[in-house]
Amino acid sequence: MSAARLILEQLELGPMMNFVYIVGCEQTRQAAAIDPAWDVKTILATARRLDLHLHHILLTHAHPDHINGLEELLDATDATVYVNAEELDYMREMAPRYQVPIGFLDRRAQNFRAVVDNDEILIGEIPVRVLHTPGHTPGSQCFLAGKNLFAGDTLFIDACGRVDLPGSDPAKMWWSLNRRLRALDDDLVLYPGHSYGGRSSTLGDQKRTNPYMQFESADQFARAMGMGM
Ligand SMILES: [Zn+2]
Repeated sequence: MSAARLILEQLELGPMMNFVYIVGCEQTRQAAAIDPAWDVKTILATARRLDLHLHHILLTHAHPDHINGLEELLDATDATVYVNAEELDYMREMAPRYQVPIGFLDRRAQNFRAVVDNDEILIGEIPVRVLHTPGHTPGSQCFLAGKNLFAGDTLFIDACGRVDLPGSDPAKMWWSLNRRLRALDDDLVLYPGHSYGGRSSTLGDQKRTNPYMQFESADQFARAMGMGM
């Protein structure tokens, strides 16, 4: 029995160099869009070109530059949305501040599934593991599919997401980067949420070169981020 083959497409969309990903199952042609934003027409056209059906939407977190295409994509696909349990409240809380219309959260409530750490999501026959990695936001999460790690704004190539925003927590970010992600295999391929510093890397390279993965304590990390605790 061979494992189902994974199809992966990386799209750089919008003015903030966001990466949107399409992850599909070759056997069943089911697919997920990760962080749908900026240009839903291109996301839909890419899925069509790859002969994939977007049954799932995975959210690494709820900042507007990662979800501003969510409502439109939901209306086009009726997909199931997987969001961390801790991010749902944050999304409602932040909506007025970021002027994000989220009436669709109630209108589309039946489409949303709250997930927690280590949950498994099936995209066709492809298992995707949820890694809750708080710090950038309370419900930030990474997705592990095969050897591919989709890290949102937790881990960038030689950088990390901001920890000075409402809902950010530098101590949790330290743990996520220096304990949780550092414990994963070196041969994982890192796919970040923005194209700062390139399109992909390996986790082994990041353990060696990423300055934010070199801290022994949360306290040191916070000081280096300019935020004494
Ligand atoms: Zn963000």
